[in-house]
Amino acid sequence: HGEIDFKEDAKFAQHLKKGEAVSEFAMSKSMAEQRQYLPIYSVRDELLQVIRENQVVVVVGETGSGKTTQLTQYLHEDGYTINGVVGCTQPRRVAAMSVAKRVSEEMETELGDKVGYAIRFEDVTGPNTIIKYMTDGVLLRETLKDADLDKYRVIVMDEAHERSLNTDVLFGILKKVVAQRRDFKLIVTSATLNAQKFSNFFGSVPIFHIPGRTFPVNILYSKTPCEDYVEAAVKQAMTIHITSSPGDILIFMTGQDEIEAACYALAERIEQLISSTRKGVPKLLILPIYSQLPADLQAKIFQKAEDGARKCIVATNIAETSLTVDGIFYVIDTGYGKMKVYNPKMGMDALQVFPVSRAAADQRAGRAGRTGPGTCYRLYTESAYLNEMLPAPVPEIQRTNLGNVVLLLKSLKIENLLDFDFMDPPPQENILNSMYQLWVLGALNNVGGLTDIGWKMVEFPLDPPLAKMLLMGEQLECLDEVLTIVSMLSVPSVFFRPKDRAEESDAARENFFVPESDHLTLLNVYQQWKANQYRGDWCNDHFLHVKGLRKAREVRSQLLDILKTLKIPLTSCGFDWDIVRKAICSAYFHNAARLKGVGEYVNCRNGMPCHLHPSSALFGLGYTPEYVVYHELILTTKEYMQCVTAVEPQWLAELGPMFFSVKESDTTLLEHKKKQKEEKTAMEEEMENLRKMQAEAEKE
Ligand code: ADP
Ligand code: MG
Repeated sequence: HGEIDFKEDAKFAQHLKKGEAVSEFAMSKSMAEQRQYLPIYSVRDELLQVIRENQVVVVVGETGSGKTTQLTQYLHEDGYTINGVVGCTQPRRVAAMSVAKRVSEEMETELGDKVGYAIRFEDVTGPNTIIKYMTDGVLLRETLKDADLDKYRVIVMDEAHERSLNTDVLFGILKKVVAQRRDFKLIVTSATLNAQKFSNFFGSVPIFHIPGRTFPVNILYSKTPCEDYVEAAVKQAMTIHITSSPGDILIFMTGQDEIEAACYALAERIEQLISSTRKGVPKLLILPIYSQLPADLQAKIFQKAEDGARKCIVATNIAETSLTVDGIFYVIDTGYGKMKVYNPKMGMDALQVFPVSRAAADQRAGRAGRTGPGTCYRLYTESAYLNEMLPAPVPEIQRTNLGNVVLLLKSLKIENLLDFDFMDPPPQENILNSMYQLWVLGALNNVGGLTDIGWKMVEFPLDPPLAKMLLMGEQLECLDEVLTIVSMLSVPSVFFRPKDRAEESDAARENFFVPESDHLTLLNVYQQWKANQYRGDWCNDHFLHVKGLRKAREVRSQLLDILKTLKIPLTSCGFDWDIVRKAICSAYFHNAARLKGVGEYVNCRNGMPCHLHPSSALFGLGYTPEYVVYHELILTTKEYMQCVTAVEPQWLAELGPMFFSVKESDTTLLEHKKKQKEEKTAMEEEMENLRKMQAEAEKE
């Protein structure tokens, strides 16, 4: 890869001295003093005045100016929590948790008491909670139960610039709440300057700017494109650590695997250095952060390193705007991020690695200039920045499957989704595609209305196919088993594979294998854990993450509560696990694949090649059934099927896309049949058009 081009900048070196002083100043302060030091504090009273005078306000301020942690507290101090809750939405769960914790500390209250948070499957709030941080998904689901959001006095829609799918849908819903409730206030915050759009959407509401306080960041580009950005980032971090003046390092990677690889490599290099030099090697505190990292480890990034040590945080784009760590002077930007994108070839969403946008790259660089002047090392060329990166990210609503959104809006009685007040409407074909998938799952009828199954599916905070799997468990009387599988699929992998004990842990995993199914392997793990009294030491002995299993148990009990409220009884099939496979098949036939070669399959619908993953039970035992269904496809070096189950071809014929029935109607049977036939023809025509549209899009 290319060497970083060091441009020595004399002015910059001068700034550095000042910057260090600023940072030390900030760090030595008490929490109350730190609050007053934030840029938002200097405009506190004016801001509260504007909020008093307006029902909707857009607030723009640099990342780290205090929007997320301070606004809610100011609103509380100004009396808004006397008769209601101040809610603050976050697109990311990590941010909701971490910020709630920080604010509870600033307000000197237990987390979950006056200040709490709620994310999917985890509600840490109580009767006293007056400031509630939550993911935008949680608030969206709350609108199902209470369309006017009566318990909230104010909602702060944070990180609006992120344009997450749920935030975008909330925009339309909250606009209605604003029109309906005079006592309700809405504050929309954004880290970037293009806030005019938000203001316009709500009818030209005021935009309040928090004055920035940032330091210059020296930006250095790679001279040539780099081939292995993980290696390049590790090398750059080591160079900084050995040769540059104090200041913490922040590295941006795309996901957990890369972050772990980078942290491992960094630790190894430090070890090597220690053993090869006589002189002392300066300490480096290596801290990963990504959404699936346990909360206690996440919190570590904010801790001050012990004397003299330098921190090196390796993060996903969570650290771009959602979380601010003070004391970062060096940013290493790989230029990539993971994004969920609808892939028309696969007919579904896939997490894929993409170059970030210029706006995101600038945000990343800005992280180095918060406490003093900093440096950003871009591991890509200046020409890539100028010519290859998009100016701004594409909003999620424009690029992902809308299955959940369609279900939700339908249940809110929004019949024609194209009429919904979207800030940027999703492409029509996106909506039609998602509707088609819901129709195939039996959640929508021939005229696009919710079926009985569809109404039930809305109740579960799950992706439509997983909700369908649960309901098929009910129908096939193996709900207990399916419930466990769904819960296990809703948590990160429970298999623990330390690099230095890889063989041992692989052997332990193999002991749980059920030859024909990874889903059943998960069921087996859970049932054995249960048979061993849910013990933690048992998990350790078997190379299982106890935290992951506990989380699965918690998810399971929450889903069970929902099943109870729907009066669905918990049936079990004992050890007749074939029926469980049938339930899985019924929800995932869109992900069916046929055997083509050794370990090689092709998707039945579109002929896409897909492979058994080396970690699959089927792969491990060398079992290659004719037909399988899979949970999801992950794209790395190959298209790998994640979580695979062998299925019988007659199940696919029976349950597959052509299987369809409408049960609800009060017209006579004959009329009903006629109507049904007409509707079906219409829907099929629509689907045919859709397929044509897609085929043309692919050609282009
Ligand atoms: P914004 O939302 O405008 O980006 P925040 O309110 O998130 O700003 O951050 C304000 C300040 O609070 C930052 O300086 C940040 O370092 C600090 N902060 C936020 N969360 C924590 C935490 N968990 N621990 C320590 N400091 C934190
Ligand atoms: Mg924020």
